[in-house]
Amino acid sequence: MSSHPLIPLSEPELSGREWTYVKQCLDTGWVSSAGPFVQRFEEQMAELIGVRYAVATSSCTAALHMALKVAGVEPEDEVLVPSLTFVASANAVRHANAWPVFIDAEPNYWQLDARLAEEFLRRRCRSKGGALVNKGSGRRVRAIMPVHVLGHPVDCDAVCEVARRYGLPIVEDAAESIGARYKDRMVGSHGDIACFSFNGNKTITTGGGGMIVTDNEQWAARARYLTTQAKDDPLEYVHAEVGYNYRLSNVLAAIGCAQLEGLEQAVQAKRRIAEHYRQSLGSIEGICVFEEAPEAYCGYWMSAVLVDAPRFGMSSRELCSYLETHGIQTRPLWQPMHAIGAYQECESIITGVADRLAEGGLCLPCSAGMSDQDLHRVTQAIHQAYQQRRAPTAVRPQHVA
Ligand SMILES: *Cc1c(COP(=O)(O)O)cnc(C)c1O
Repeated sequence: MSSHPLIPLSEPELSGREWTYVKQCLDTGWVSSAGPFVQRFEEQMAELIGVRYAVATSSCTAALHMALKVAGVEPEDEVLVPSLTFVASANAVRHANAWPVFIDAEPNYWQLDARLAEEFLRRRCRSKGGALVNKGSGRRVRAIMPVHVLGHPVDCDAVCEVARRYGLPIVEDAAESIGARYKDRMVGSHGDIACFSFNGNKTITTGGGGMIVTDNEQWAARARYLTTQAKDDPLEYVHAEVGYNYRLSNVLAAIGCAQLEGLEQAVQAKRRIAEHYRQSLGSIEGICVFEEAPEAYCGYWMSAVLVDAPRFGMSSRELCSYLETHGIQTRPLWQPMHAIGAYQECESIITGVADRLAEGGLCLPCSAGMSDQDLHRVTQAIHQAYQQRRAPTAVRPQHVA
C-alpha cells in the first residue's frame, strides 16, 4: 500500500467565484429554475459555442432526451449512436422511446466511424415514402448522434456529409467536449443541436446539469417548453402536451457561470497533462497514448492510454490494480454498448475496435488542478510497472547452441 495520498482520476476545480455567485442566489432568494444566473449561463454558453440559442437543463441525459424529441425522433424510430460511449447517450434514445443502432469506433481517435455509418445507411436502409427505413427492422432511421468521445471531436466533416446525404439531423452528444474544437469551430456548433454536461466529473461542473445549444429558433423554443412541464400559460395551469421537469436551478447555474470563467484554464491544464503523458509514456512498448487528429483541438476531458497486454507485460486491469496499490486512481473505458446487458438486443455494426479499446483502454488521473509532482508520480509508477513485468524476460538467459 502506498504511503502517499490518493491521486484521484478527476476532481472538480472550484476555486473561482462559485461562492460569491451562490451567495447572491441565497441572499436574493432566487434559488429555483427562474433567476438571472440561468439566463446568464445560457447566454454565455450560446456565445462560447457560437450558436444563437441555449437552454439549460438538469442534466445532459435530459438535454439529449429533449434534443432528440425536438429534432423529430419519435417512438420506434432508430438513431445511430457510437458503440463506444457512456451509457447515457443510449439511455437518452430509449427515454425518447426510440432505438439505438450502435456503430463501432474508428481505431485512430476512438470516435464514431462515419464510414461504417454510411455503409449501414447505404446497404441496410432504403428510402420509403420520404423516410429512411432500416430494411431489417422496418423502423424509420431518424437521427445520428455522434459523441465527441473523451473530449476529442468526431470527424465532423465526415459525419455532416453522411447526415446531409441521408437527410438526417445531427444531435451532438458533446457531454465530454466543452472547449474542444474541430477546424477552429467549437464542438457543438457543427451539428443541428448539441448537448453539454456539467456533471461532477466533467471538465466544468455545476454538480449536475446540462445545456442544449442550437441555431434553430423553433427547436430551442420547443426544448424550453418541454423542459418546463409544457407550460402554456403563465397564470392558468394549461398544458397541451406532456412535459418534463428538466430545468436547471439558479443556484447551479450560478456555479456554472463561475466555472465558465475558468474553462479556458481548465482545458489548457488538461491539454498540458495529456502532453505530459504523451511525452513520458509514448515510448513505452505496448502503451499507446490517446492523441488528437490534425484538424482537432481536443479538450482532453480524459487522458487515456491503450495497453497492449502481451507487449506491455500487463493487462489494462492489472495495471489499474497495480496503480491502485500505489495510490493512483485510474479507470477502464466503457464496455461497448453492444456488449452490455441493457442493450445487447439492439442492432449493432461492429468491427471489433470498440471491444479492443474497452479491453485495453485506461483513463489516467487528469484533474485540471493536478500538480507536476503528482503527474510525475503517475508516469513513474507506469514505468515501474513496465520494468517489473519485463524483468524476468530481460534476464532470461540467451539460448546456447
Ligand atoms: C456524462 C455523459 C453524459 C451524461 O451527462 P449527465 O449530465 O450526467 O446526464 C452523456 N453522454 C456522455 C458521452 C457523457 O460522458
